[in-house]
Amino acid sequence: MIKAVTGTKDILPSDIPRWKYLEKTVERVFASFNYKEIRTPIFEETALFARGIGEETDIVGKEMYSFTDRSDTSLTLKPEMTAAVVRAYLEHSLGAQQPLVKLFYMSPMFRQERPQAGRFRQFHQFGAEAIGSKSPLLDVEMIQMAYEILKSLGLKNLTVKINSLGTPETRENYKKLLKEFLEDKKNKLSEDSRRRFETNILRIFDSKVESDQKIIKDAPKLVDHLDEESKADFEVVKDQLAKYEIPFEIDPALVRGLDYYTKLTFEIDSGSVGAQTALCGGGRYDLLIETLGGKPTLATGFAAGIERILLACENEKSFTVPVQSIDVYLVRISDELESFVSEIAGKLRKENLLVDFDYLQRSVKAQMREANKLNAKYVLFIGGDEYKEGLMNLKNMSNGVEEKIKFDKVDTIISKLRS
Ligand code: AMP
Repeated sequence: MIKAVTGTKDILPSDIPRWKYLEKTVERVFASFNYKEIRTPIFEETALFARGIGEETDIVGKEMYSFTDRSDTSLTLKPEMTAAVVRAYLEHSLGAQQPLVKLFYMSPMFRQERPQAGRFRQFHQFGAEAIGSKSPLLDVEMIQMAYEILKSLGLKNLTVKINSLGTPETRENYKKLLKEFLEDKKNKLSEDSRRRFETNILRIFDSKVESDQKIIKDAPKLVDHLDEESKADFEVVKDQLAKYEIPFEIDPALVRGLDYYTKLTFEIDSGSVGAQTALCGGGRYDLLIETLGGKPTLATGFAAGIERILLACENEKSFTVPVQSIDVYLVRISDELESFVSEIAGKLRKENLLVDFDYLQRSVKAQMREANKLNAKYVLFIGGDEYKEGLMNLKNMSNGVEEKIKFDKVDTIISKLRS
């Protein structure tokens, strides 16, 4: 039997209510900050991600699902959304219509990572991008929205981490300092980190190797060497977070090793999801739009992993969804009434009521069992002597009260079910 591809999973009907609850929460919070939804295609030209994420990242280097189509174009299933959103922003000149464009999305993403708890090859993200302003208040807005969504889902065990990367010039100066600090410790670093020492020294902070962590812990910190503007912006972020009563930590290890990331970076971690603790991450990317061929345009954003958030919610039992139920289940006493039952069900369904009946010619007992399984609020019995008299029997399942209804008085059922 063919199974789902490793690292992918089905979202079954029993999972859907929790997904819907999350999706509604996400939409409500983004709407309250006036973000508009954008949907982009599942695949893009590979070059977009190579340029928009960076050749030297793990995503582009080893995780992309890329393929060549029949016209020899290299395409890639999107591994993240920012590059795709910026592509759409530029292609449709969204910035010409509005100086500040605030967008949100929810979409599947694809990365060929090693599958483990909280890490999939097809997963889903929601996120936001605000394109067109340098205001640090927008950086705060990203944290605020992410935090508000996670809180609204009832999550408690959260840690907000922030850092500032400064401008590219600040970072270049800092890299020199870091190089000086690591020069005589280089040989003690892991092989990966020794390579990063030459290619992209900031990424040594991403190393998960404990001995690397020990060395880097005492390194000079980028936040202590910021330029004036980045420093001032970082102060605004800290002040505002305090005003919004969002607790945070400064984490100097939160670096993004790419040149177009600037100033604020942040991550929100959960203590309830095992090894993969990050629920979301984001920050300012003031130079990305130029990298993708646009005019210099300042921007900030974040992305959050839905599967991981739902896992945290499950582990914390942070919210419950209402038990699924239907309005009315039609039970027929004998099989020849099937088409009449279907006709009545049709009338009720036209009124947008949630209605079902038996299609398997099951016994009355089995039909009742089904009605209970579906948590039917009412059961409508059709058949027997009553049927001969033109009557049906409507039973309220919560109090057992029964009432006879004439065939042509379906309206009575409708108003009852609505009340
Ligand atoms: P990133 O786009 O790498 O900054 O990731 C943002 C968020 O997406 C992370 O904090 C995770 O919650 C989620 N995420 C990233 N990669 C995966 C994956 N392979 N499987 C599940 N969730 C992921």
